[in-house]
Amino acid sequence: MSVIPSIVEKSIIRFDVDQVRKDFPVLFQEVYGKPLVYFDNAATSQKPQVVIDSLKKYYSEYNANIHRGVHFLSQKASQAYDDVREKVSGFINAKSEREIVFVSGTTEGINLVASSYGRKNFSPGDEVLISTMEHHSNIVPWQMICEERGAILKVIPISDSGEILMEEYKKLLNSKTKFVSIVHTSNSLGTVNPVKEIIQLAHEYKIPVLVDAAQAVLHEQVDVQDLNCDFLCFSAHKMLGPTGIGVLFGKINLLESMPPYKGGGEMISSVSFEKTTYNEVPFKFEAGTPNIADVISFGVAIDYLLTSDRKAIAEYEQKLLSYAIKSLSDIEGIRFIGTAKKRTSLVSFVIDGVNALDVGMSLDTQGIAVRTGHHCTEPVMDRMKVPGTIRDSFAFYNTMNEIDKLKEGLIKAIRLLKK
Ligand code: PMP
Repeated sequence: MSVIPSIVEKSIIRFDVDQVRKDFPVLFQEVYGKPLVYFDNAATSQKPQVVIDSLKKYYSEYNANIHRGVHFLSQKASQAYDDVREKVSGFINAKSEREIVFVSGTTEGINLVASSYGRKNFSPGDEVLISTMEHHSNIVPWQMICEERGAILKVIPISDSGEILMEEYKKLLNSKTKFVSIVHTSNSLGTVNPVKEIIQLAHEYKIPVLVDAAQAVLHEQVDVQDLNCDFLCFSAHKMLGPTGIGVLFGKINLLESMPPYKGGGEMISSVSFEKTTYNEVPFKFEAGTPNIADVISFGVAIDYLLTSDRKAIAEYEQKLLSYAIKSLSDIEGIRFIGTAKKRTSLVSFVIDGVNALDVGMSLDTQGIAVRTGHHCTEPVMDRMKVPGTIRDSFAFYNTMNEIDKLKEGLIKAIRLLKK
């Protein structure tokens, strides 16, 4: 029996934003005397009370190290931890829970694949493909391994609207290409990429593909078998869960072929000074005491999403997006950066004559939390010829009324800054 608190009764089958907001205690506070408007969800989402409670429950009722103790607490914690691997596997429709490696987040997942797969498989002159719209965490690990192995990093260009140029992508694929690593949903432009097609094209050359799904998992159902991706990474903290935990999905044959990434306890089968043998997948990649508490509360976040009407949520988020685009378009001098046809619920923009950071700081004094700058995607900013943008990223607990407040806040900020 699972010891993870059940939240099934808290289902939000019929989507009601006022009801849903009550699950997120952080939203009910004032910042500088103004009600908080939280529009920085792409950086990290807020957490429902059940997720917060599960952390307290673990530490106050059954904190113990796992997989090693024969005692009651250890067994209870081990069971709760193991249940989450199964839950994650179902959440993304993996074939087996053995394909689920717990990592600290998307960044660590990509680093694991770049180091382990890349070190084993890349040779001088090989090519690795990424796109212009990658987060730094899907650029730098590939630069590092390419430099080490003498491989070449190639970049798929994007259009002015922030879409991958598929014809250019096709031209870049060739027999020297050894890997494709691509973002599912851009954190700075909002673009949702045609990942399934990107994967199909790479597979024609037998090239494995990693999908960075950090911005996708909260907003849509991601199915690794349908996508047929070889690896996929995401972070719990962007999908209602805690920080410090994330997932690397990998097809079992690939994970089995890869050398360990870190050495230590748990990842071994036996150790002697003459010869060490490694544990089986996924434990081979999980050295040391894992992040037990956060894995358990990650499971609660997954339960929360699974018991929600995800279709209704996605529709509601798209309504927030359309409403934001329509109402902010009236603002004089606004220019949206990222106008792809298929977009997630975020808007990124610049305003003539005012600095993005100054706007962000002014909005903050009005209780409105947005993100400004390059959003860890400097090459996107270079491509769009802007130093940075103002990004408002919405989640299903945001409201149209908050978007009205944002618009008022922006008009006020511009008036003050242009004085
Ligand atoms: N990729 C994308 C698209 C992201 O938005 C982020 C976080 N902003 C990351 C990767 C990195 O995620 P984390 O910091 O949780 O490892």
